[in-house]
Parts: sequence; C-alpha cells; structure tokens
Amino acid sequence: MLDQELINAVIQPEIQSLTAYKVADATGYIKLDAMENPYSWPDEVKTEWLEQLRNAEINRYPDPEAKSLCTVLKTYNHIPDQSELILGNGSDEIIQLLLMALPADSTVMAPEPSFVMYRQIAHCLGLNYQGIPLLAGNFDIDLAVTLSTIEKTQPAIIFLAYPNNPTGNLFDSAAIEQIIETSKGLVIIDEAYAPFTDFSFIEKLPQYDNLLIMRTLSKLGLAGLRLGFIAGNPAIINELNKARLPYNINVLTQYSAEFALNHAEMFAEQTQTICDERARMFLQLSTIKEITPNPSAANFILFRTPKGTATEIFNSLKTHNILIKNLASHQGLLKDCLRVTIGKPEENNAFISALKKIMLTL
Ligand code: PMP
Repeated sequence: MLDQELINAVIQPEIQSLTAYKVADATGYIKLDAMENPYSWPDEVKTEWLEQLRNAEINRYPDPEAKSLCTVLKTYNHIPDQSELILGNGSDEIIQLLLMALPADSTVMAPEPSFVMYRQIAHCLGLNYQGIPLLAGNFDIDLAVTLSTIEKTQPAIIFLAYPNNPTGNLFDSAAIEQIIETSKGLVIIDEAYAPFTDFSFIEKLPQYDNLLIMRTLSKLGLAGLRLGFIAGNPAIINELNKARLPYNINVLTQYSAEFALNHAEMFAEQTQTICDERARMFLQLSTIKEITPNPSAANFILFRTPKGTATEIFNSLKTHNILIKNLASHQGLLKDCLRVTIGKPEENNAFISALKKIMLTL
C-alpha cells in the first residue's frame, strides 16, 4: 500500500491538512520565545523539594482526583467555595477535554488572533471553528460582530484568553460580561497569564452557570510539570470528569506542584520582578523608532515592526543568539509582529541592545 493510501485510510482529512505545533530548537539561545519564567529556585528550596519527592510512590498510580493538590490550588487561586475543579496535563489538555465533550457538529468560537490551540484542537476533532477578528487598532474584542455572530451560530463554547496571547492586552471586561450573558453555550476565560495581572473573572464564577475559568502553572514557573485546571459550575465539571483520563496528573507533578504552591512568596517575588521588567522593556521598546509595542498584562510583549521586516529582524536577533517568536506567518493583524517573552534583566538588556543595533542597519 502506498503511504498516502494508508494515511487516507487511517487519518481524517481535517488532521492531514493541519501543521503540527512547532517548537523552535532553543539550544544555545537566550530563550525569550515561550512565556516561561526565567527564574529557578534557591538551592535550599530545591533540596527540600527533592527530600519530599523521596516519599512519592512511583510504583503506585497517582491519586486519580489529586484531592490534596486541588485543595491547595483552590486556596492559592481564591476559587469560590461553590466552584469545582478539574486538573489537566497542562491547560492544553483541558482545552482538548472541553472540546472532546462537545456534541458532534458544535461550533467553537474565539477571537483572532488568540491562542492557536483553540482552533487546532477544534479542527483535529472535526468541530466547526469560528474566529472573530479583533479590532485592528487595539486588539480588543469587536463586540457588535461577536454578539451578532453568537446569535447567528450559537457556539457551544467560546474561548477568551484574558490577557490574550499573543497580543498581551486584557479585553474590555464589560464586553466579556455581555458575551457571557448572550451566550447559551460555555464561555471559557483562559487566565493563563494570571500571575502577571490583578484582573480576573474568578470571583464572578458563582454569578454565571456557563462561565468557566482556566488557569495553568506553566507561566508561574512550572512549565515543565504540565499542570492546568479549570474551575466553575460543579454540574459541568462533573460531566467533564467522565471524559478525563483517570490518572492524567502524575505522582511527581502532584507532589511538586503542591510543594511549589506552599512557597507562594518565592513566586510572588519572581512574578513581581517580571512585571517590573515588563514595564522597563515596554519603555525601552517605545524609544526605538519604528517599533510599536502593544500594552501587556502578561509576561511578554507583542511589538509591530516596519512593514515587511519582521522575519528579517527575527533572523538577525538569532544571529545575536536571541530567540523570540516570529508571528509574521500568521498574516492578518500579526503580519509585521514579533513577540518577546520577559526574561531576566540581563537577557532583556541583550535583546534591547541587539534590536537597537538591528534597527539602525535595516
Ligand atoms: N492558554 C494560553 C492563552 C496560552 O498562551 C497557553 C500557552 N502558551 C496555554 C493556554 C497552554 O498552557 P499550558 O498547556 O502550558 O498549561
């Protein structure tokens, strides 16, 4: 059998037409491409953590509900008592779980540009996907178009990243509430970047039956552990739990995440430093002629470059050993945009000084 015949026999056309999520090889680069926290832990904290891991029974299956970790997560994230939680192997897995549970032929809706996995997973599962372009000037929600599309297509689920990736801004909160009130389906507020903003919809959870809040520990500083969660209406969480794989959060993650969250002050200090650096980076970027940074409430900044130069700037930064994210291939609103993750002060300095040099020679 020819390879293509075999592929056609076993892989649905929707998946064949996708491109796999690409992650650049960052070996040897100053890594400012993936919204990670650049800070590690002091040696004494690492020693304490490794001591605790001795107790992890890796010969046994993990607690399928990760009850102890759930309790810590609820407190750490100020989740209202009425809400329930479900955990995922990263919030990516939760997006997959939510979409797997939808009735066939449902529509998934999200603003564009936003986190690419909403669309990618919807297509993988053969669902309809409806992207609504953000406003060109400020990357905010186009409320009129969004509301009329909701009325027309009745999406089963709407994702709103708050702050949004890759643009970094917070959407207008009154617009989000109108979307929640208009939608007959679920509205997922994806608060992946919660560690870098005081704005949140968590306390609104008890007000809306169709509102769920998703978060992750990745951006806080635990990207390697792969842990995300979604919180909200217990009746919905209960149904989702039926589609979840029983042991999706491994023993080492359960132990390590609980340990880490008991060191809240360490993360608070790290995220505060990142926020201070974000302010400094924004100012620095604003001083570079022809570069326009977009205001950010996350740990990265999207910036616009002169027409048609984004890829050249991205490649030149690589020759200076700096890896950021090139969004030029996304076309549309992101055609001339690059995204830089906030790193350590010395990494940020290296990025700014390289960018200044490159802009002089462009
Ligand atoms: N949501 C948003 C908005 C993101 O930007 C990301 C990662 N870049 C995720 C979810 C997924 O995070 P993770 O799977 O690491 O929890």
